[in-house]
Amino acid sequence: MYDAMVVGAGLSGLVMAERLCSQLGWRCLLIDRREHLGGNCHDAPDPNGVLTHLYGPHYFRTNTPELVNYLSRFTAWHRTRYAVRSFTGGRYWSFPINLKTFEQLLGRESSQDEFSRWLDEHKLPITEPQNSEEVMLASVGVEFYEKFFKGYTQKQWNKEPRSLHPSVCGRIPVRTTRDDGYVDESFQALPQDGYTAMFERMVDTCGANLEVRLGLDFCQAKDTFSYRHLIYTGPIDEYFQVCYGRLEYRSLRFEVESHSARSLAQQGKSGFWQPYLQVNYPNSEQYTRIVEIKHATSQNTPHTNLVREYPQDYTQDNEPYYPVPTDRNLALYKKYAALAAEEKGTTFLGRLATYAYLNMDQAVALALETFSAKFSAQPQQRKPRLA
Ligand code: FAD
Ligand code: UDP
Repeated sequence: MYDAMVVGAGLSGLVMAERLCSQLGWRCLLIDRREHLGGNCHDAPDPNGVLTHLYGPHYFRTNTPELVNYLSRFTAWHRTRYAVRSFTGGRYWSFPINLKTFEQLLGRESSQDEFSRWLDEHKLPITEPQNSEEVMLASVGVEFYEKFFKGYTQKQWNKEPRSLHPSVCGRIPVRTTRDDGYVDESFQALPQDGYTAMFERMVDTCGANLEVRLGLDFCQAKDTFSYRHLIYTGPIDEYFQVCYGRLEYRSLRFEVESHSARSLAQQGKSGFWQPYLQVNYPNSEQYTRIVEIKHATSQNTPHTNLVREYPQDYTQDNEPYYPVPTDRNLALYKKYAALAAEEKGTTFLGRLATYAYLNMDQAVALALETFSAKFSAQPQQRKPRLA
Protein backbone atom coordinates (compact mmCIF):
# COMPACT_ATOMS: atom_id res chain seq x y z
CA MET A 1 0.00 0.00 0.00
CA TYR A 2 1.51 3.32 -1.11
CA ASP A 3 0.46 6.59 0.45
CA ALA A 4 0.23 8.03 -3.06
CA MET A 5 0.64 6.97 -6.63
CA VAL A 6 1.85 9.78 -8.88
CA VAL A 7 1.03 9.30 -12.56
CA GLY A 8 3.48 11.12 -14.81
CA ALA A 9 7.18 11.70 -14.05
CA GLY A 10 7.18 15.12 -15.75
CA LEU A 11 7.94 18.30 -13.85
CA SER A 12 4.53 18.42 -12.16
CA GLY A 13 4.59 14.81 -10.98
CA LEU A 14 8.21 15.04 -9.84
CA VAL A 15 7.65 18.17 -7.75
CA MET A 16 4.59 16.70 -6.08
CA ALA A 17 6.30 13.34 -5.44
CA GLU A 18 9.34 15.10 -4.00
CA ARG A 19 7.19 17.19 -1.64
CA LEU A 20 5.09 14.26 -0.45
CA CYS A 21 8.12 12.06 0.19
CA SER A 22 10.47 14.68 1.60
CA GLN A 23 8.04 16.81 3.59
CA LEU A 24 5.49 14.27 4.75
CA GLY A 25 7.57 11.12 4.65
CA TRP A 26 4.92 9.51 2.45
CA ARG A 27 5.79 6.40 0.53
CA CYS A 28 5.03 7.11 -3.11
CA LEU A 29 5.05 5.28 -6.40
CA LEU A 30 5.90 7.50 -9.38
CA ILE A 31 5.10 6.03 -12.78
CA ASP A 32 5.40 7.17 -16.37
CA ARG A 33 4.42 5.47 -19.58
CA ARG A 34 7.55 6.85 -21.20
CA GLU A 35 10.91 5.24 -20.45
CA HIS A 36 12.51 8.32 -18.91
CA LEU A 37 12.15 10.95 -16.20
CA GLY A 38 11.17 14.54 -16.89
CA GLY A 39 8.29 14.32 -19.39
CA ASN A 40 8.77 16.94 -22.07
CA CYS A 41 11.62 18.61 -20.18
CA HIS A 42 13.77 15.49 -20.51
CA ASP A 43 17.23 16.09 -22.02
CA ALA A 44 20.08 13.74 -22.87
CA PRO A 45 23.48 13.78 -24.57
CA ASP A 46 23.63 12.92 -28.29
CA PRO A 47 26.27 10.48 -29.65
CA ASN A 48 28.87 13.30 -29.57
CA GLY A 49 28.06 14.13 -25.95
CA VAL A 50 26.16 17.33 -26.80
CA LEU A 51 23.21 17.92 -24.49
CA THR A 52 19.97 17.78 -26.48
CA HIS A 53 16.52 19.09 -25.60
CA LEU A 54 14.75 16.14 -27.16
CA TYR A 55 11.24 17.59 -26.85
CA GLY A 56 11.91 21.08 -28.13
CA PRO A 57 13.73 23.92 -26.39
CA HIS A 58 13.03 24.31 -22.70
CA TYR A 59 13.98 27.83 -21.71
CA PHE A 60 13.51 28.12 -17.96
CA ARG A 61 12.47 31.60 -16.93
CA THR A 62 10.57 33.08 -14.01
CA ASN A 63 9.91 36.22 -12.00
CA THR A 64 9.40 34.24 -8.79
CA PRO A 65 12.48 33.87 -6.55
CA GLU A 66 10.72 31.24 -4.39
CA LEU A 67 10.59 28.90 -7.38
CA VAL A 68 14.27 29.41 -8.08
CA ASN A 69 15.05 28.76 -4.40
CA TYR A 70 13.05 25.56 -4.46
CA LEU A 71 14.67 24.19 -7.64
CA SER A 72 18.12 25.34 -6.50
CA ARG A 73 18.01 22.51 -3.95
CA PHE A 74 18.49 20.17 -6.88
CA THR A 75 20.61 22.13 -9.35
CA ALA A 76 23.05 24.95 -9.89
CA TRP A 77 22.18 27.29 -12.78
CA HIS A 78 23.73 28.47 -15.99
CA ARG A 79 22.46 32.03 -16.52
CA THR A 80 21.73 32.66 -20.18
CA ARG A 81 19.63 34.72 -22.57
CA TYR A 82 17.27 33.31 -25.14
CA ALA A 83 17.98 34.89 -28.55
CA VAL A 84 15.63 34.10 -31.40
CA ARG A 85 15.31 35.26 -35.00
CA SER A 86 12.54 34.86 -37.52
CA PHE A 87 13.57 33.87 -41.04
CA THR A 88 11.27 35.15 -43.77
CA GLY A 89 11.65 36.77 -47.19
CA GLY A 90 15.19 35.38 -47.40
CA ARG A 91 16.54 37.17 -44.30
CA TYR A 92 16.77 36.97 -40.53
CA TRP A 93 14.52 39.36 -38.64
CA SER A 94 14.96 40.49 -35.07
CA PHE A 95 12.21 38.74 -33.08
CA PRO A 96 10.07 39.15 -31.02
CA ILE A 97 9.03 42.41 -32.67
CA ASN A 98 11.07 45.30 -31.27
CA LEU A 99 12.65 48.54 -32.46
CA LYS A 100 15.35 46.61 -34.37
CA THR A 101 12.64 44.76 -36.32
CA PHE A 102 11.08 48.10 -37.24
CA GLU A 103 14.46 49.44 -38.33
CA GLN A 104 14.92 46.39 -40.55
CA LEU A 105 11.51 47.09 -42.10
CA LEU A 106 12.42 50.75 -42.75
CA GLY A 107 16.00 50.00 -43.80
CA ARG A 108 17.31 52.79 -41.56
CA GLU A 109 17.73 53.77 -37.93
CA SER A 110 14.66 54.85 -36.03
CA SER A 111 13.56 55.72 -32.50
CA GLN A 112 11.16 54.48 -29.86
CA ASP A 113 8.92 57.49 -30.54
CA GLU A 114 8.75 56.88 -34.26
CA PHE A 115 8.01 53.18 -33.77
CA SER A 116 5.29 53.92 -31.18
CA ARG A 117 3.66 56.39 -33.58
CA TRP A 118 3.88 53.86 -36.42
CA LEU A 119 2.27 51.20 -34.25
CA ASP A 120 -0.51 53.61 -33.24
CA GLU A 121 -1.20 54.27 -36.91
CA HIS A 122 -1.05 50.63 -37.99
CA LYS A 123 -2.62 48.60 -35.21
CA LEU A 124 -6.33 47.91 -35.58
CA PRO A 125 -8.77 49.47 -33.11
CA ILE A 126 -9.79 46.25 -31.34
CA THR A 127 -10.25 47.03 -27.66
CA GLU A 128 -10.96 43.53 -26.41
CA PRO A 129 -9.26 40.98 -28.68
CA GLN A 130 -11.19 37.73 -28.73
CA ASN A 131 -8.68 35.51 -30.47
CA SER A 132 -5.03 35.18 -31.53
CA GLU A 133 -5.52 37.04 -34.82
CA GLU A 134 -7.20 40.00 -33.13
CA VAL A 135 -4.62 40.18 -30.35
CA MET A 136 -1.80 40.61 -32.88
CA LEU A 137 -3.73 42.96 -35.19
CA ALA A 138 -4.49 45.07 -32.13
CA SER A 139 -0.87 45.22 -31.03
CA VAL A 140 1.22 45.27 -34.27
CA GLY A 141 -1.16 45.66 -37.24
CA VAL A 142 -1.59 43.69 -40.46
CA GLU A 143 1.93 43.81 -41.92
CA PHE A 144 3.79 42.36 -38.93
CA TYR A 145 0.94 39.95 -38.18
CA GLU A 146 1.11 38.52 -41.69
CA LYS A 147 4.90 38.43 -41.79
CA PHE A 148 5.54 36.71 -38.45
CA PHE A 149 2.38 35.24 -36.94
CA LYS A 150 -0.23 34.15 -39.44
CA GLY A 151 1.74 31.45 -41.27
CA TYR A 152 3.58 30.18 -38.21
CA THR A 153 0.36 29.80 -36.24
CA GLN A 154 -1.44 28.04 -39.11
CA LYS A 155 1.49 25.63 -39.42
CA GLN A 156 1.89 25.05 -35.67
CA TRP A 157 -1.77 24.47 -34.85
CA ASN A 158 -3.32 23.54 -38.23
CA LYS A 159 -5.94 26.16 -37.38
CA GLU A 160 -6.66 29.74 -38.22
CA PRO A 161 -5.33 32.12 -35.54
CA ARG A 162 -8.94 33.44 -35.36
CA SER A 163 -10.03 30.19 -33.74
CA LEU A 164 -7.36 30.19 -31.01
CA HIS A 165 -7.55 31.93 -27.64
CA PRO A 166 -5.72 35.32 -27.53
CA SER A 167 -3.17 33.91 -25.06
CA VAL A 168 -1.53 31.73 -27.76
CA CYS A 169 0.02 34.53 -29.85
CA GLY A 170 -0.42 37.03 -27.03
CA ARG A 171 2.33 35.33 -25.05
CA ILE A 172 4.96 36.69 -27.46
CA PRO A 173 6.13 40.14 -26.28
CA VAL A 174 6.11 43.25 -28.48
CA ARG A 175 8.55 46.01 -27.49
CA THR A 176 9.33 49.49 -28.76
CA THR A 177 12.84 49.32 -27.27
CA ARG A 178 15.85 47.49 -28.75
CA ASP A 179 15.46 44.66 -26.20
CA ASP A 180 15.25 41.56 -28.40
CA GLY A 181 15.17 38.81 -25.72
CA TYR A 182 12.56 36.15 -26.44
CA VAL A 183 11.00 36.34 -22.97
CA ASP A 184 10.46 39.06 -20.38
CA GLU A 185 11.16 37.26 -17.10
CA SER A 186 14.05 38.43 -14.90
CA PHE A 187 15.51 35.00 -14.15
CA GLN A 188 16.56 33.18 -17.33
CA ALA A 189 18.72 30.14 -16.76
CA LEU A 190 19.15 26.45 -17.50
CA PRO A 191 20.00 23.77 -14.94
CA GLN A 192 23.80 23.62 -14.99
CA ASP A 193 23.97 19.88 -15.76
CA GLY A 194 20.66 19.70 -17.62
CA TYR A 195 17.07 18.98 -16.62
CA THR A 196 17.46 15.23 -16.34
CA ALA A 197 20.31 15.59 -13.84
CA MET A 198 18.10 17.95 -11.81
CA PHE A 199 15.24 15.44 -11.85
CA GLU A 200 17.54 12.59 -10.81
CA ARG A 201 18.58 14.65 -7.79
CA MET A 202 14.92 15.26 -6.92
CA VAL A 203 14.34 11.52 -6.94
CA ASP A 204 17.50 10.84 -4.91
CA THR A 205 16.35 13.32 -2.27
CA CYS A 206 13.31 11.14 -1.61
CA GLY A 207 15.45 8.09 -0.80
CA ALA A 208 13.56 4.90 -0.02
CA ASN A 209 10.25 6.79 0.21
CA LEU A 210 10.01 6.99 -3.57
CA GLU A 211 9.77 4.10 -5.98
CA VAL A 212 9.97 4.97 -9.69
CA ARG A 213 8.61 2.73 -12.42
CA LEU A 214 9.10 3.87 -16.00
CA GLY A 215 7.47 2.39 -19.08
CA LEU A 216 4.30 1.76 -17.07
CA ASP A 217 0.88 3.11 -18.04
CA PHE A 218 -1.73 4.12 -15.50
CA CYS A 219 -4.19 1.68 -17.15
CA GLN A 220 -1.98 -1.21 -16.00
CA ALA A 221 -0.81 0.32 -12.72
CA LYS A 222 -4.24 1.25 -11.33
CA ASP A 223 -5.30 -2.35 -10.77
CA THR A 224 -1.84 -3.62 -9.80
CA PHE A 225 -0.98 -1.30 -6.92
CA SER A 226 -2.96 0.04 -4.00
CA TYR A 227 -2.64 3.60 -2.78
CA ARG A 228 -4.51 6.09 -0.61
CA HIS A 229 -4.12 9.10 -2.91
CA LEU A 230 -3.73 9.51 -6.62
CA ILE A 231 -1.89 12.39 -8.26
CA TYR A 232 -2.71 12.34 -11.97
CA THR A 233 -0.80 14.44 -14.53
CA GLY A 234 -1.91 12.70 -17.74
CA PRO A 235 -4.61 13.89 -20.18
CA ILE A 236 -7.79 14.56 -18.22
CA ASP A 237 -10.14 13.21 -20.91
CA GLU A 238 -8.28 9.87 -20.94
CA TYR A 239 -8.70 9.56 -17.17
CA PHE A 240 -12.49 9.72 -17.64
CA GLN A 241 -12.45 7.33 -20.65
CA VAL A 242 -13.22 10.30 -22.94
CA CYS A 243 -16.83 10.08 -21.73
CA TYR A 244 -17.71 13.57 -23.06
CA GLY A 245 -15.60 13.24 -26.21
CA ARG A 246 -11.93 13.86 -26.98
CA LEU A 247 -10.11 17.00 -26.02
CA GLU A 248 -7.81 18.15 -28.79
CA TYR A 249 -4.03 18.13 -28.32
CA ARG A 250 -1.34 19.21 -30.76
CA SER A 251 1.68 17.04 -31.32
CA LEU A 252 5.10 17.52 -32.90
CA ARG A 253 7.77 15.39 -34.51
CA PHE A 254 11.26 16.33 -33.36
CA GLU A 255 14.07 15.68 -35.81
CA VAL A 256 17.49 15.70 -34.15
CA GLU A 257 20.54 16.31 -36.36
CA SER A 258 23.96 15.90 -34.73
CA HIS A 259 27.02 17.54 -36.24
CA SER A 260 30.52 16.53 -35.21
CA ALA A 261 33.35 19.08 -35.38
CA ARG A 262 34.40 17.35 -38.60
CA SER A 263 30.99 17.59 -40.27
CA LEU A 264 30.82 21.27 -39.30
CA ALA A 265 34.28 21.85 -40.80
CA GLN A 266 33.17 20.15 -44.03
CA GLN A 267 30.39 22.76 -44.23
CA GLY A 268 32.86 25.56 -43.56
CA LYS A 269 31.49 26.03 -40.02
CA SER A 270 33.09 25.90 -36.62
CA GLY A 271 31.42 25.23 -33.27
CA PHE A 272 27.88 26.14 -34.34
CA TRP A 273 25.61 25.30 -37.27
CA GLN A 274 23.38 28.39 -37.26
CA PRO A 275 24.11 31.89 -35.94
CA TYR A 276 21.29 31.92 -33.36
CA LEU A 277 19.87 29.70 -30.64
CA GLN A 278 16.49 29.50 -32.36
CA VAL A 279 15.32 30.40 -35.83
CA ASN A 280 11.58 30.49 -36.54
CA TYR A 281 10.25 29.80 -40.06
CA PRO A 282 6.83 31.46 -40.29
CA ASN A 283 6.36 31.31 -44.05
CA SER A 284 8.55 28.56 -45.49
CA GLU A 285 9.56 24.99 -44.63
CA GLN A 286 7.40 22.32 -43.06
CA TYR A 287 9.03 22.78 -39.67
CA THR A 288 8.30 25.77 -37.45
CA ARG A 289 11.74 26.27 -35.92
CA ILE A 290 15.30 25.03 -35.67
CA VAL A 291 16.89 25.09 -32.23
CA GLU A 292 20.62 24.78 -31.61
CA ILE A 293 20.59 24.50 -27.84
CA LYS A 294 24.39 24.76 -27.46
CA HIS A 295 24.00 28.53 -27.91
CA ALA A 296 22.15 28.56 -24.58
CA THR A 297 23.94 25.81 -22.66
CA SER A 298 27.39 27.16 -23.70
CA GLN A 299 28.64 23.58 -23.52
CA ASN A 300 32.38 23.42 -24.14
CA THR A 301 32.47 21.11 -27.14
CA PRO A 302 33.38 21.45 -30.83
CA HIS A 303 30.28 19.42 -31.80
CA THR A 304 26.69 20.60 -31.92
CA ASN A 305 23.15 19.52 -32.69
CA LEU A 306 19.91 20.91 -34.08
CA VAL A 307 16.31 20.01 -33.43
CA ARG A 308 13.69 20.74 -36.08
CA GLU A 309 10.02 20.76 -35.02
CA TYR A 310 7.36 19.45 -37.39
CA PRO A 311 3.79 20.04 -36.16
CA GLN A 312 1.48 17.03 -36.26
CA ASP A 313 -1.98 15.93 -35.27
CA TYR A 314 -2.10 13.96 -32.03
CA THR A 315 -2.74 10.27 -32.60
CA GLN A 316 -2.28 7.30 -30.29
CA ASP A 317 1.27 6.92 -31.72
CA ASN A 318 2.73 10.26 -30.63
CA GLU A 319 2.56 12.55 -27.60
CA PRO A 320 -0.02 15.18 -26.65
CA TYR A 321 2.32 18.16 -26.27
CA TYR A 322 -0.05 21.13 -26.33
CA PRO A 323 -3.63 21.64 -25.17
CA VAL A 324 -5.42 23.47 -28.02
CA PRO A 325 -7.22 26.49 -26.57
CA THR A 326 -10.31 26.88 -28.78
CA ASP A 327 -13.80 27.70 -27.48
CA ARG A 328 -14.91 24.11 -28.09
CA ASN A 329 -11.99 22.59 -26.18
CA LEU A 330 -12.15 25.03 -23.27
CA ALA A 331 -15.88 24.36 -22.84
CA LEU A 332 -15.30 20.60 -23.00
CA TYR A 333 -12.45 20.86 -20.49
CA LYS A 334 -14.83 22.57 -18.04
CA LYS A 335 -17.06 19.50 -18.12
CA TYR A 336 -14.11 17.24 -17.33
CA ALA A 337 -12.91 19.64 -14.62
CA ALA A 338 -16.34 19.38 -12.97
CA LEU A 339 -15.99 15.58 -12.90
CA ALA A 340 -12.45 15.92 -11.56
CA ALA A 341 -13.66 18.11 -8.69
CA GLU A 342 -15.92 15.24 -7.56
CA GLU A 343 -13.25 12.55 -7.82
CA LYS A 344 -12.38 11.53 -4.25
CA GLY A 345 -8.74 11.10 -3.23
CA THR A 346 -7.47 12.27 -6.61
CA THR A 347 -5.54 15.41 -7.54
CA PHE A 348 -5.29 16.57 -11.15
CA LEU A 349 -2.13 18.47 -11.91
CA GLY A 350 0.04 19.73 -14.77
CA ARG A 351 -0.29 20.71 -18.38
CA LEU A 352 -2.37 17.77 -19.53
CA ALA A 353 -4.66 17.27 -16.53
CA THR A 354 -5.52 20.97 -16.15
CA TYR A 355 -5.55 21.45 -19.94
CA ALA A 356 -3.46 24.62 -19.64
CA TYR A 357 -0.52 25.94 -21.67
CA LEU A 358 1.76 26.04 -18.59
CA ASN A 359 5.37 27.10 -18.75
CA MET A 360 7.75 25.22 -16.48
CA ASP A 361 7.71 27.82 -13.73
CA GLN A 362 3.90 27.80 -13.78
CA ALA A 363 3.88 23.99 -13.58
CA VAL A 364 6.23 24.05 -10.56
CA ALA A 365 4.18 26.83 -8.92
CA LEU A 366 0.94 24.91 -9.41
CA ALA A 367 2.42 21.73 -7.92
CA LEU A 368 3.86 23.58 -4.90
CA GLU A 369 0.64 25.52 -4.31
CA THR A 370 -1.44 22.36 -4.58
CA PHE A 371 0.86 20.59 -2.15
CA SER A 372 0.56 23.45 0.37
CA ALA A 373 -3.20 23.81 0.00
CA LYS A 374 -4.12 20.16 -0.03
CA PHE A 375 -1.42 18.08 1.61
CA SER A 376 0.88 20.07 3.88
CA ALA A 377 -1.50 19.66 6.82
CA GLN A 378 -1.76 15.88 6.29
CA PRO A 379 -0.17 13.63 8.92
CA GLN A 380 3.45 12.68 8.46
CA GLN A 381 3.90 8.98 7.89
CA ARG A 382 7.61 8.57 8.44
CA LYS A 383 10.51 10.79 9.29
CA PRO A 384 10.74 13.37 6.50
CA ARG A 385 14.14 13.64 4.83
CA LEU A 386 14.12 17.39 4.20
CA ALA A 387 13.34 20.23 6.58
P1 FAD B 1 4.53 16.66 -19.05
O1 FAD B 1 5.94 17.05 -19.23
O2 FAD B 1 3.68 16.46 -20.27
O3 FAD B 1 4.50 15.32 -18.19
C1 FAD B 1 3.37 14.48 -18.07
C2 FAD B 1 3.88 13.05 -18.02
O4 FAD B 1 2.78 12.17 -17.78
C3 FAD B 1 4.51 12.61 -19.33
O5 FAD B 1 5.84 12.20 -19.14
C4 FAD B 1 3.62 11.47 -19.81
O6 FAD B 1 4.34 10.43 -20.45
C5 FAD B 1 3.01 10.98 -18.51
N1 FAD B 1 1.72 10.31 -18.68
C6 FAD B 1 0.63 10.80 -19.32
N2 FAD B 1 -0.37 9.90 -19.28
C7 FAD B 1 0.09 8.82 -18.60
C8 FAD B 1 -0.46 7.56 -18.24
N3 FAD B 1 -1.72 7.22 -18.57
N4 FAD B 1 0.32 6.68 -17.56
C9 FAD B 1 1.60 7.00 -17.23
N5 FAD B 1 2.17 8.17 -17.54
C10 FAD B 1 1.43 9.08 -18.21
N6 FAD B 1 8.12 25.65 -20.77
C11 FAD B 1 8.97 26.65 -20.44
O7 FAD B 1 8.92 27.17 -19.32
N7 FAD B 1 9.92 27.10 -21.34
C12 FAD B 1 10.03 26.57 -22.59
O8 FAD B 1 10.89 26.99 -23.36
C13 FAD B 1 9.14 25.52 -22.97
N8 FAD B 1 9.22 24.99 -24.19
C14 FAD B 1 8.37 23.97 -24.53
C15 FAD B 1 8.48 23.41 -25.80
C16 FAD B 1 7.63 22.38 -26.18
C17 FAD B 1 7.77 21.79 -27.55
C18 FAD B 1 6.65 21.90 -25.27
C19 FAD B 1 5.72 20.80 -25.68
C20 FAD B 1 6.54 22.45 -24.01
C21 FAD B 1 7.39 23.49 -23.62
N9 FAD B 1 7.33 24.06 -22.35
C22 FAD B 1 8.19 25.07 -22.00
C23 FAD B 1 6.34 23.60 -21.36
C24 FAD B 1 6.88 22.49 -20.44
O9 FAD B 1 7.19 21.37 -21.23
C25 FAD B 1 5.81 22.17 -19.40
O10 FAD B 1 5.60 23.28 -18.56
C26 FAD B 1 6.17 20.99 -18.51
O11 FAD B 1 6.63 19.90 -19.25
C27 FAD B 1 4.94 20.59 -17.72
O12 FAD B 1 5.19 19.41 -17.03
P2 FAD B 1 4.04 18.37 -16.75
O13 FAD B 1 4.60 17.39 -15.80
O14 FAD B 1 2.79 19.08 -16.37
O15 FAD B 1 3.73 17.70 -18.17
N1 UDP C 1 4.16 32.38 -32.84
C1 UDP C 1 4.14 32.87 -34.14
N2 UDP C 1 5.34 33.17 -34.74
C2 UDP C 1 6.53 33.00 -34.13
C3 UDP C 1 6.54 32.50 -32.82
C4 UDP C 1 5.34 32.20 -32.21
O1 UDP C 1 3.09 33.00 -34.74
O2 UDP C 1 7.57 33.27 -34.74
C5 UDP C 1 2.87 32.06 -32.19
C6 UDP C 1 2.45 30.60 -32.48
O3 UDP C 1 1.05 30.53 -32.55
C7 UDP C 1 3.00 29.88 -31.27
C8 UDP C 1 2.74 30.89 -30.16
O4 UDP C 1 2.98 32.17 -30.79
O5 UDP C 1 2.34 28.66 -31.06
C9 UDP C 1 3.60 30.75 -28.95
O6 UDP C 1 4.96 30.75 -29.35
P1 UDP C 1 6.11 30.15 -28.43
O7 UDP C 1 7.40 30.37 -29.12
O8 UDP C 1 5.97 30.66 -27.05
O9 UDP C 1 5.71 28.62 -28.50
P2 UDP C 1 6.12 27.32 -27.66
O10 UDP C 1 7.57 27.48 -27.31
O11 UDP C 1 5.20 27.28 -26.50
O12 UDP C 1 5.87 26.25 -28.66
